[in-house]
Amino acid sequence: MTASHAAADSTAALGTMLETDEQRALRAAVAAVGKRYGRAYFEDVVRDGRHPDELWADAAKAGYLGVNLPEEYGGGGAGITELAIVLEELGVAGCPLLMLIVSPAICGTVIARFGTEEQRREWLPGLADGSRTMAFGITEPEAGSNSHRITTTARRDGDDWVLTGRKVFVSGVDIADATLIVGRTEDAKTGRLKPCLFIVPRDAPGFTRSAIDMELFAPEKQFELVLEDVRLPPSALVGDEDAGLLQLFAGLNPERVMTAAFALGMARYAIAQAVDYANTRQVWKDPIGAHQAIAHPLAQAHIDIEMARLMTRKAAQLYDAGDDTGAGEAANMAKYAAGEAAVRAVDQAVHTLGGNGLTREYGLASMITGARVARIAPVSREMILNYVSHQSLGLPKSY
Ligand SMILES: Cc1cc2nc3c(=O)[nH]c(=O)nc-3n(C[C@H](O)[C@H](O)[C@H](O)COP(=O)(O)OP(=O)(O)OC[C@H]3O[C@@H](n4cnc5c(N)ncnc54)[C@H](O)[C@@H]3O)c2cc1C
Repeated sequence: MTASHAAADSTAALGTMLETDEQRALRAAVAAVGKRYGRAYFEDVVRDGRHPDELWADAAKAGYLGVNLPEEYGGGGAGITELAIVLEELGVAGCPLLMLIVSPAICGTVIARFGTEEQRREWLPGLADGSRTMAFGITEPEAGSNSHRITTTARRDGDDWVLTGRKVFVSGVDIADATLIVGRTEDAKTGRLKPCLFIVPRDAPGFTRSAIDMELFAPEKQFELVLEDVRLPPSALVGDEDAGLLQLFAGLNPERVMTAAFALGMARYAIAQAVDYANTRQVWKDPIGAHQAIAHPLAQAHIDIEMARLMTRKAAQLYDAGDDTGAGEAANMAKYAAGEAAVRAVDQAVHTLGGNGLTREYGLASMITGARVARIAPVSREMILNYVSHQSLGLPKSY
């Protein structure tokens, strides 16, 4: 097997010790679906301003989109480990589906774990079969990385809730049936604001969106949202008003694991392209891949990717085993490692192709900004380093 196969082939799974037969079979099956579409399909979709509906429908039919959701609500009854495998392998095929991060992973998890029975029955079957999607909005213009500073506020008016605030960079709001909005409610006893989650339907009066002009090559758009006295029924509040923080954290670990898988799929795709090119492109007596200045950075990128895959696996496994605290540290580290691996892998892949690295034909230049998303979102590289400094190493905080 050549290195190019090792980088992209689904049979280069994590090994029998780390993945079950079912997980390896899932990897291979998703890879086969991804291959039927491939990068050319994804590029056409983006250039035409469409969404990868055909791929989404096929993945839904095979049960991949809701593989992590409970069986009794139409899901596959597996875990984030399996959903991450789906996202990674579609990325390896050149078709990373960002909505898998927000819809089944964050929103599906939060509703499955904390939603009322009514909310589960209303949302989970649709999220699982891909017929409905949900976006997730936490980032605010004035708060950014400091989510303690969010000001989107929900106040009671009779039985209803009335939401006011602004969000920014929220992905896929135009195609999602609703957005899970992180707001705050006032604690009746202390007067302090506490986080709460609300399901806001796409066309709720007072809920407006405007697309942000992003330099990204992706089918999903990012939006700035304004919530102006958005009136919602009591059933819009997810789960318990007093358990908002716990509920929020339940969604954030899957988000980080899935962002890692998103980055790793892209990184593996890029390295496979670069290795194929380095094996055939010849400008002196041997293919350029024989020059160590080309080979070693690719080897380093491959090692970085494999290490990040291991950490992602660890985080997913801890999460699926119910260890939210252990998963928190591992998911942050996995997201960090995968984001950095992806940025370096794509950069090295582009460089390996020389001028062709910047052509449309080879499709790598368009991944430069895409790979950087995983360094910034959903939590930036620096905020993860802060987390590890404080939580893992016990160092003091500077802010
Ligand atoms: C493509 C894309 C999709 C996104 N999708 C969503 C979505 O669906 N839903 C959603 O809610 N959000 C989404 N986001 C938003 C994303 O989560 C934020 O961009 C991210 O959390 C960083 O916030 P910010 O952009 O406000 O940066 P800022 O918080 O302004 O940070 C700017 C820079 O300062 C650094 N910095 C800030 N504080 C510190 C500190 N204490 N120490 C060291 N460095 C620091 C950061 O690391 C960063 O490099 C998306 C973003 C992108 C780019």
